[in-house]
Amino acid sequence: MKSIKLKAYGKINLGLDVLGKRDDGYHDLDMIMQSVDLFDEITITKNNSGEITVKTSTEKIPNDESNLAYKAAKLLLEEFDIKKGVEIEIEKNIPISGGMAGGSTDCAAVLKGINKLFKLKLPEEKLMARGVRLGADVPFCIIGNTARAEGIGEILTPIKNRMKGYIVLAKPPISVSTGFVYGRIDKVKVKHKPDTGAMIVALENNDLQALADSICNVLEEVTIPDYPVVQEIKDMMKEDGALNAMMTGSGPTVFGLFDDKEKAIAAIDHLTEADILEQLYLAKFVN
Ligand code: ATP
Repeated sequence: MKSIKLKAYGKINLGLDVLGKRDDGYHDLDMIMQSVDLFDEITITKNNSGEITVKTSTEKIPNDESNLAYKAAKLLLEEFDIKKGVEIEIEKNIPISGGMAGGSTDCAAVLKGINKLFKLKLPEEKLMARGVRLGADVPFCIIGNTARAEGIGEILTPIKNRMKGYIVLAKPPISVSTGFVYGRIDKVKVKHKPDTGAMIVALENNDLQALADSICNVLEEVTIPDYPVVQEIKDMMKEDGALNAMMTGSGPTVFGLFDDKEKAIAAIDHLTEADILEQLYLAKFVN
């Protein structure tokens, strides 16, 4: 095998709770992570150059050693003393700096791809142990689907479900610094905390309404006061029939949960007319 093509799925947070700050500066989290079928396409091709090269479909992400896909390839090629080179092509579809783990999922896909391409035979948990060194969301991106993520995001419990529904993803043309949001969260007296247990029951029962009723992200209470467009998008989605709408990660991407495709499309049309978004997609649950 000379080349491998992989889908790197984006994620949304159905739940995100911050439990406290750790001595190492990270926060202890309790999250429900959900893969969605909006994906980057990653192609990895072996060559004899002895180098790692990255080609991206957009100049908005780096194509040098700071790209997480590059870092993933370097980590495995060095560890296994592989002298061949690889070219990594990234067709970017996931919003950049949008709270959808776009970089982490590319990183996870390259770890999986190099593992296969060079027949390293590393089991998933060993790939995850390497992945967490490159980013807290990487282990989840390796397993995908639905999972509870605790610790800094690396302690994962998969949640089996067959949830159906339509997910409208809307990214406004603003950037929100993850560092800024997590830096502020300790100073905010959070009003609403997620009921993670209720979310898990809703998922296991494939009950979209109950899931929509229980989604909650404490980081909204930091991001929304500074970026009111997030609230504006949520309100529009709910007016257009979303069962609920919420920000993912530290933002600014908002997702709306719909049980009806027509309503989801009507919401997309309405949001398109409002002309307040950079990217807008209709996605489904990956499970
Ligand atoms: P998270 O949800 O994990 O907080 P995010 O979706 O908000 O992440 P990313 O799209 O992963 O944010 O990008 C964050 C930063 O990582 C950007 O500044 C970007 O330049 C850098 N980056 C490095 N590699 C990649 C990659 N392969 N794809 C996207 N961004 C990357």
